[in-house]
Amino acid sequence: MEKKQFRTESQKLLDMMINSIYTHKEIFLRELISNASDALDKLYYKSLTDDTVTLARGDYEIRLDTDRDARTVRISDNGIGMTEEELENNLGTIAKSGSYDFKHDNEQKEEVDIIGQFGVGFYSAFMVADKITVVSRAFGADTAYKWESEGVDGYTIEPCEKETAGTDILLHLREDTEEEKYSEYLDSWKIKNLVKKYSDYIRYPIKMDITTEKLKEGVDPSSDAEDKYESVTETETLNSMVPLWKKRAQDITEEEYAAFYRDKFYDFEAPAKTIHFKSEGTATFDAMLFIPQKAPFNYYTKDYEKGLQLYSSGVLIMEKCADLLPDYFSFVRGLVDSADLSLNISREMLQHDHQLKVIAKAIEKKIKNELAKMLEADREKYEAFWQAFGMQMKFGLYSDYGMHKDVLQDLVMFTSSNEKKLTTLKEYVSHMKEEQKSIYYACGETNDKIEMLPQCETVTSKGYEVLYLTDDIDEFALKMLAKYDEKTFVNVCAEDLDISTEEEKEAVKAENEGAADMLSAMKEALGDSVSAVRFTNTLKNHPVCLTSEGGLSVGMEQVLNRMPSGEENVKAQIVLEINADHAIAAKLKALWEEDKEKLSSYAKILYAQARLIGGMSIENPAELSQLVCDLMI
Ligand code: ADP
Repeated sequence: MEKKQFRTESQKLLDMMINSIYTHKEIFLRELISNASDALDKLYYKSLTDDTVTLARGDYEIRLDTDRDARTVRISDNGIGMTEEELENNLGTIAKSGSYDFKHDNEQKEEVDIIGQFGVGFYSAFMVADKITVVSRAFGADTAYKWESEGVDGYTIEPCEKETAGTDILLHLREDTEEEKYSEYLDSWKIKNLVKKYSDYIRYPIKMDITTEKLKEGVDPSSDAEDKYESVTETETLNSMVPLWKKRAQDITEEEYAAFYRDKFYDFEAPAKTIHFKSEGTATFDAMLFIPQKAPFNYYTKDYEKGLQLYSSGVLIMEKCADLLPDYFSFVRGLVDSADLSLNISREMLQHDHQLKVIAKAIEKKIKNELAKMLEADREKYEAFWQAFGMQMKFGLYSDYGMHKDVLQDLVMFTSSNEKKLTTLKEYVSHMKEEQKSIYYACGETNDKIEMLPQCETVTSKGYEVLYLTDDIDEFALKMLAKYDEKTFVNVCAEDLDISTEEEKEAVKAENEGAADMLSAMKEALGDSVSAVRFTNTLKNHPVCLTSEGGLSVGMEQVLNRMPSGEENVKAQIVLEINADHAIAAKLKALWEEDKEKLSSYAKILYAQARLIGGMSIENPAELSQLVCDLMI
C-alpha cells in the first residue's frame, strides 16, 4: 500500500516524540482522552440542531481497554469521528503548528518545555507506542477508514469496517527498556490513576472493564479452599466527571488550574492569574478566568478574537462568546457556566439576552477588582501584566468617548520622571507638591528622549513629576480622561503650561511686547511653520523650544498624520519659544537692529533646532545645512 509522508513540521514533532527523553510520557493518555472528549462535544453540539444524531445524552462515552498479550492500549469514543480527508489533514499535520518554533539552540530543553507545559496532542502517543492504528468513522459517513503509522517513515490510509460513528485509537506499546517500563500502561490500576490525575473533570464517562479477584459468594473468607476467589469483570467509570470549574477553589491545586488552562487555551505557560468564582446574585454562574502571562502573538492585530467559552449547565454552547468581555479586558481567557442560559439559544438571540448582559457586567467588575488587588498586593506581577496588556487598557480609556474611565483610570500606569518607574495616577497625585495644580506629562519616542525635552526639565526642576508618554495612544487617552481627581492633565509642551509666578508672567509679557516687531519679523521668516514666535522665561538652559497652542499637540499631530485615514493633514499650532535669559536673545535683538536678513536665517536655524530637540524631523534639511554653512564660512 502506498505510504504517505508526514508534512515537514509534523515530521519534526514526530521525531521529537519518538526520540523523546521526556520523563512524563504518561501525558499521552490525557492528550488522547482530551481529543476524544472534544469529538464527543462536537457530536453533542451537532445534536442540538441536527435530528439525525440519535445518540441519547447518557450514551456519549470514552472507553479504555488494554490487552496484555497484544501489548496494546485502546482509546475509543463514539463522537464525531473523522472522514478520510480529516484523518489525513488532522493526523498528517500538527494542528497547533502555529505555536511551535523549533529553531532554538537548546532543543532538549525546548522539547521538555513543549511536552510538559503544552502537551502535543495526538503525536504524544508516539512517546509510548511504536505503532498507532486509528479507525474512525465520521458521523453521517458510510465508510470508515483506518490510518496507521509506525512513525517517521509515513502512514497509510485505507477503508475498513466500523459499525458506528466515532474513533478507536490503538497503541501498540514499545518494548520496555532499562529506563522505561512501557508495559505499566497495560495495568488497569495505572490507567485508572492516570485518568484520576489528568482527566478527572472530563464531562463524559471514561469507562474501563476492570477485572478483579473476588471472594465467591457464600464462601467463608477464612476458609483455605483453593478456589474461593473468582475473576469478576466490571465496567467502571474512572472519572468523577465534575468539571474543574464546578469544584471548590480550595480543592483545586495551582498545577491543576495551570494544566487545565494550558490544555484548554493552548498556552505554553501557566496563567499569570486565575480567577475562579461563583456568583449567586442577579445571575447564577460559575466562572473560571485566566490572565495569560504574555500577549498572544496576534493579540494586537485584528485577527485576535476575544471571548469566553460559554457553557449552559456544563454543556458548551459557544466557543468564544465575545459579549462576555469588554474590549479592554479582551486578553482574559476562560469560561462561564450558567444554568440560566438556554441550551438552544442562538447566537443572535444571545446578543440580546438580558441574563448574558448581567453576567458580563459581573465579570467585568470581578476582573477590575482582581487587577486592582494584584496592583496592591503584587506590584512586580502587575507591572509584568501591564507590559503585556497595558496598551489595550489605554485604548479602553480612549474608546467610547471615555465611557470606561471609572473602570480603568486606577488600573493604568505610565512611566514617571521619578526614576523612570511606572506609576499609577493615584500615586502621581499623592506625590504632588502643595502648590502644584496639574498632572504634567510629556510625549516622545522614548523615555530618554522625553527626559531631554527642555520643557520637561523646566517642570521637573520645580520638583514636579512628569508622566512620560511613549505610546501613540497615550496622549489621546489622557485627553479623553481630561481630569483625574479634579486635576487636569497638562502637556509640558503646551503653550499654556501654567507654571510661572504672576511676576514672572508679567516680566515675560513686557519682554514680548517690547520685542513685538522683531518677533513678528521672525514669524514672517518661518511662514506657516509656526503660528507665533515668543520669548519665554521658563526654559532653563536651552535656547529654544516648540510649544503647541490649542488642543492638538505636536505628538498628536504626528500620530494622526501617520494614520492611513486619507484625510487632509492635520496641523498643530506651533509656537517657537526663545529663552529670554539665554545669550541668543540678546544676539537676536542686536541683529534686528543691524542685519535683518541674518535675523531671518537665525530664525530658521533656531526653528530647526527646536524641532530636533523636540524629537521631530526637520522639514528642509538641505536648507538648514546651507544656512549653517553660510554662518561658518
Ligand atoms: P489538537 O487536539 O490540539 O487539535 P491533536 O494533534 O491532538 O491536536 O489532534 C489533531 C486533530 O485531530 C484534532 O483537532 C481533531 O480534529 C482530530 N482528532 C484527534 N483525535 C480525534 C478523535 N478522537 N475524534 C475526532 N477527531 C479527532
